[in-house]
Amino acid sequence: MQTEFSLIINGNKVAGDRGTFDVINPATEEVVAACPYASVEQLNAAVDAAEEAFKTWQYSSNEERKQALHRIADRIEANAAALAEVIVKEQGKPMFLAQAEVGGAVAWTRYTADLEIPVEVLEDSENKRIELHRKPLGVVGSITPWNWPLMIAVWHIMPALRTGNTVVCKPSGLTPLNTIMLAEIINEEVPAGVMNVLTGEAGIGSAITGHEKIRKIVFTGSTPTGQAIMRNAASNLKRLTLELGGNDAGIILPDADVDAIAEGIFQTAFLNMGQTCAALKRLYVHDSQYDQVCEKLVAIANAQVVGNGMAEGTTFGPVQNKDQFELVKELVEDAKASGAQVLCGGEPQSGKGFFYPPTIVANATDDMRIVAEEQFGPVLPVIRYSDLEQAVALANNCDVGLGGSVWSSDIEAAQKVAQRLECGTAWINGHAEVLPHAPFGGCKMSGFGVEFGQEGLLEYTVPQTLNINK
Ligand code: NAD
Repeated sequence: MQTEFSLIINGNKVAGDRGTFDVINPATEEVVAACPYASVEQLNAAVDAAEEAFKTWQYSSNEERKQALHRIADRIEANAAALAEVIVKEQGKPMFLAQAEVGGAVAWTRYTADLEIPVEVLEDSENKRIELHRKPLGVVGSITPWNWPLMIAVWHIMPALRTGNTVVCKPSGLTPLNTIMLAEIINEEVPAGVMNVLTGEAGIGSAITGHEKIRKIVFTGSTPTGQAIMRNAASNLKRLTLELGGNDAGIILPDADVDAIAEGIFQTAFLNMGQTCAALKRLYVHDSQYDQVCEKLVAIANAQVVGNGMAEGTTFGPVQNKDQFELVKELVEDAKASGAQVLCGGEPQSGKGFFYPPTIVANATDDMRIVAEEQFGPVLPVIRYSDLEQAVALANNCDVGLGGSVWSSDIEAAQKVAQRLECGTAWINGHAEVLPHAPFGGCKMSGFGVEFGQEGLLEYTVPQTLNINK
């Protein structure tokens, strides 16, 4: 495993002005590696480099940028094993999931490479031609979370580069190492200053969002941080894409084939140990099927192999960090005290590591914290309903709206319900599935703006109308 990690500023590997901080393996609580701790002066140097590089990178041809992204995808693929190992060690997920994350990074990079930046002709008459062009914005600041660190960095960086922007990225201090490796790879294929990475916490994130030379922030993380960013970004009216928290509801309609859907429900609720923004977080089940659904989910939960993600056979890793681990414990204890019934899991594992087994909570109600708050961990509260109208109302009675799902054998009936859900993506007989060609984003306090597809790409551009009098 790579052991030396540096900031990348203007194409150079640089030590942190403020020394280093330790990155901790959540499965062992041991140090994975020392990570450079950047200063705000180093951030300023990175932004200056990115601004300088933008002067030429913005005029590179579409073909040049497309080819650069394809070469980057090839290099990510060639380094897949090393990246996956670092992801397992710093993030905690099982190896198969880390490999899927790297595979996703490659696929997204290739897809983004091949997207086109359209020029629309709005009028072409005898005396006039009006065209709508899309221009890059300048320096883009990317701030990422710790749950899918490589994937999300790719989601931010690739469309920014593809459209001719330059980037300063700050990954989460909990999982920064794979993003440094990604930035090293990118730097082999783009001019110095186009891609910069800074690690370190205190002040760097807010210095990015307040920086006068940064034109856009793409942020994935919690809603409170998103609110702070929006306030800070007002100084120079930065463009924002905010992908924030969720608390996704899933509704099982009474006609659903429980045997057929149980595995899908479990996997999308517990994806990445439940630490997925658009994981199914509240499950509404009709009275007539309630016991059967709970029984099935418990059987699948009990079949999981909880352990270190590096160990063969592990299907379920630790919670990523101590704070999150403590929050999960607290919310489950609160549910127990409020009268919910823990059907499986419900207690942390003893010993080293932040291990909390998959937990199914029955007799949950909407006033319990485990249902009302974004728990972001390996717990699924199951809520009983008898009237579909009531289930839809409860699903929507939430200040965030990232994803939602309806599970049924009757696609038409399910679609009618799905379209009433207040969320950015509504799935039928699925959940948490994101794809490079399907725009993804939230409504309400899950943020605004979308990623992916052409709509996502264009968020990294500003329109320029060219009005030609012939
Ligand atoms: P977080 O908001 O605590 O941190 C995210 C990033 O913001 C980190 O890099 C952090 O260092 C940085 N940061 C913290 N304070 C900042 C500030 N004041 N200014 C600028 N940057 C700051 O989130 P997290 O705990 O790392 O991630 C979990 C959250 O992310 C959950 O709420 C989850 O739902 C959300 N998430 C959303 C999506 C989505 O697409 N909507 C995807 C993944 C995760």
